[in-house]
Amino acid sequence: MHLSRAAVLGGGPGGLYAARLLKLAYPSCEVTVYEQGTPDATFGFGVGLAAGTQRKLDAADPDTLRDLVAAGHRHDMTLRVGADTVRVRNDRLIGIARTELLAILHRHAEKAGAALEFGSRRTAAELDADLVIAADGVSSETRGNGPFGTRIDVGRGLYLWCGTDFALEDAVFAPVHTEHGTFVTHAYPYSGGRSTFLIETDERTWRNAGFDVSTAATPFDASDEVSLAYLGEIFAEQLRGRPLIGNRTRWLRFRTVRCARWSAGRTVLLGDAAHTAHFSIGSGTKLAMEDAIGLVAALREAPDLATAFARYEAARRPAVERLQELARRSQLWWESFPARLHLPVERLMVAYMTRSGNVPLDRFAATNPDVVAAALTHYAGEQPPPSPDAVTGWVLDRPLIHNGRHYPHRHPARVDANLVTLDEVLTDPWDETGDAVVARARRARADGADGFRFTGPGDRAAVLTRLDLAERVRTEVGGLSVVEAPAALREDLAAGLVSGRTDLASFTGES
Ligand SMILES: Cc1cc2nc3c(=O)[nH]c(=O)nc-3n(C[C@H](O)[C@H](O)[C@H](O)COP(=O)(O)OP(=O)(O)OC[C@H]3O[C@@H](n4cnc5c(N)ncnc54)[C@H](O)[C@@H]3O)c2cc1C
Repeated sequence: MHLSRAAVLGGGPGGLYAARLLKLAYPSCEVTVYEQGTPDATFGFGVGLAAGTQRKLDAADPDTLRDLVAAGHRHDMTLRVGADTVRVRNDRLIGIARTELLAILHRHAEKAGAALEFGSRRTAAELDADLVIAADGVSSETRGNGPFGTRIDVGRGLYLWCGTDFALEDAVFAPVHTEHGTFVTHAYPYSGGRSTFLIETDERTWRNAGFDVSTAATPFDASDEVSLAYLGEIFAEQLRGRPLIGNRTRWLRFRTVRCARWSAGRTVLLGDAAHTAHFSIGSGTKLAMEDAIGLVAALREAPDLATAFARYEAARRPAVERLQELARRSQLWWESFPARLHLPVERLMVAYMTRSGNVPLDRFAATNPDVVAAALTHYAGEQPPPSPDAVTGWVLDRPLIHNGRHYPHRHPARVDANLVTLDEVLTDPWDETGDAVVARARRARADGADGFRFTGPGDRAAVLTRLDLAERVRTEVGGLSVVEAPAALREDLAAGLVSGRTDLASFTGES
């Protein structure tokens, strides 16, 4: 396909990377990036780039990746609850300042021959080009004005993105209890002796602390100084007494964007403009840059724009939707995080790692045997097996004494207790459908039920949600919980047992 002029709307990571790759693929095409901001002014602090992303960037453009890695800051991950700390290794997770990331991408886009125009806001319609790549971010006007079939889901929790003027040793997750409720930080170091310090809370805590008022009083281009001052105090230990730094920092609710179509005419959406995934899986930059790789690969091969856009979407959509689903589960986990703080920190770490069903328990045991061994010791009250390969079977085969009854292992064929069956099929155990199940469970307990059997479809998504529902009921109502699942999902059930999502498993298809 011949392309003589391409316009990229938005100079974030997605747009800049697309401009470079496009110019490398089509040296004779004029490629211009239109960015409303100035080159050195950016919103945000650091972003994380995981090993898998680095591999993909390496394959597409080793020069850019080399500079990103050189500017990045490798770190492990620590979960700290009160005085208890657990640390997991992560050999290839780097944090990089968004300013540095963009500076590197500016340089490489220009080096490839793309032109960068800063300082004015443009619309896709006014750009004179054969191809318009709309990489204009989560609030994309192009998407808003176009026939893309957009759906936006707004999260229940509130988060605030700020920074510190020193580099933390590790990525840190730490909850802090206050008279208003619980705030939890997700913080990680990045280059330049700084750290991203993101703080999350629930709506009730946010209102109790008066942050609905401070949010309303904060102009759109300013930071919520009232919140920053308060949070600086309650996180003083993690912050070593240093202040929190704002950068147009205010409380927000995460918006998950989904579009039925990613292109219309000569315009194609890319990155946050097309889709977002909750920040707790740290994937927004990755998705935007991988979209750029996918789009340019499709453009290179296809005879015309329509075919290229269709192939780009066909190639990228499954990966995007898979990540959005992981992110959705992760978001729900974090929004309900304070309910799990009774768990010892190592089991909480297992719960965190397995929250979306993406990290199998055995794999986590292989990479961080000490953490998993401590979690298993607490779970079973005895020494765990020496081999990580044996973890799933070992977890399932531990005995349980519950309410005076003895179970020889955690997947008994028969449970001799008065169990009420809960078979509601839902997608979010913490929404009003979940509230109704909890209310029903509470009534059943008052009427003498010993516990609950959670049953329903056998597909993995349904089973993971069932485990989450069981966890909620188990935490809020009590009683014995038994989650039914196909035997093929043993590892998910084992992770659920160690994470306190259920007491017992019941395998369908087992005699
Ligand atoms: C709290 C939080 C934490 C995050 N942490 C991580 C993380 O750890 N790792 C990670 O990978 N991602 C993270 N992200 C996500 C990441 O910041 C975004 O997903 C990523 O920047 C998307 O890139 P993009 O190029 O699609 O859009 P953006 O980076 O948003 O860039 C869009 C650009 O378009 C410009 N623009 C918009 N409209 C116009 C217009 N009309 N004319 C001209 N210019 C325009 C904007 O100024 C902006 O520069 C986080 C996000 C949040 C909210």
